[in-house]
Amino acid sequence: MAVINLKLQFGMIMVDAALMKATNDPNPVEFKRLHGTVTNEKTGDKCMGETGVKSYCKKCNVETNDFTKGLEFKKGQYIEITEEELKTLKVPTNGVIAIQETTDEDFIFSQPMLFSGRSYFLQPPAKEKFPPESFALLREGLADKGRVAIGRTSLYGREHTVALQASEHGFIMHLLRYPNEIRQEQQTPLPTPNPKQLAICNMVMDAMYSDNPKLDYSDSWADGVINLKNDKLAGVATMPAATPAPATPVSNLEDDLRRTLEAIQANKAKAPEAKPKKKKGKAA
Ligand SMILES: [Zn+2]
Repeated sequence: MAVINLKLQFGMIMVDAALMKATNDPNPVEFKRLHGTVTNEKTGDKCMGETGVKSYCKKCNVETNDFTKGLEFKKGQYIEITEEELKTLKVPTNGVIAIQETTDEDFIFSQPMLFSGRSYFLQPPAKEKFPPESFALLREGLADKGRVAIGRTSLYGREHTVALQASEHGFIMHLLRYPNEIRQEQQTPLPTPNPKQLAICNMVMDAMYSDNPKLDYSDSWADGVINLKNDKLAGVATMPAATPAPATPVSNLEDDLRRTLEAIQANKAKAPEAKPKKKKGKAA
């Protein structure tokens, strides 16, 4: 399993950490792109050699634009499955979001690993001047009870489990992962924290706490690349950004925690009075 080594920074504290994928790539059926040139006129047999993304058939040693697709049934051997054949599949959720059950919002939203990261708005079609009553009814029913509807639908050539959440003007539909796409966490036992250090750590947590966190941090990579582009267009040399001072290695965890706490408090004292809380979005 690929591991990315990085450091977790928490104020003055820097600690080594290993990053591992928590989910499997969904891949219940993997179609391969194959060389579709007929090699036997009598039988109509096709080459069926793998072409990969490079459009090159290793079996015939030729570049090709003649493709078909298929599924492997034996190492290196494929059976052709055509688009026409796929269209004949009887998939009940083709063009339908079929609601199966409802559950509490908390049940779903307390399991972030279930979310594939793909979300959609589901609203009445724009041409409908008068949205159907049943659409509003379902939305209201979920909103009233604080529930989400779990359903199934077909998108991108496969069937997904989805969660429908009532939104202001319809629903937000989240594509969910199947439970078997979620990996098990590595069972590494952690040391028990020292109670005195934990008490200071909790003070740091409180000092860092916000009930309305900023979230919209900027992407330093994107900003840097855009600056680089603009500087190159203007013919000026990009000034290297100041490298942040490296945090000192943990010498004494308790000292580092205290210094972190002091730094946060000093920063807060310097900052102007916090702006009044705003309801939802809209940048100032
Ligand atoms: Zn071939």
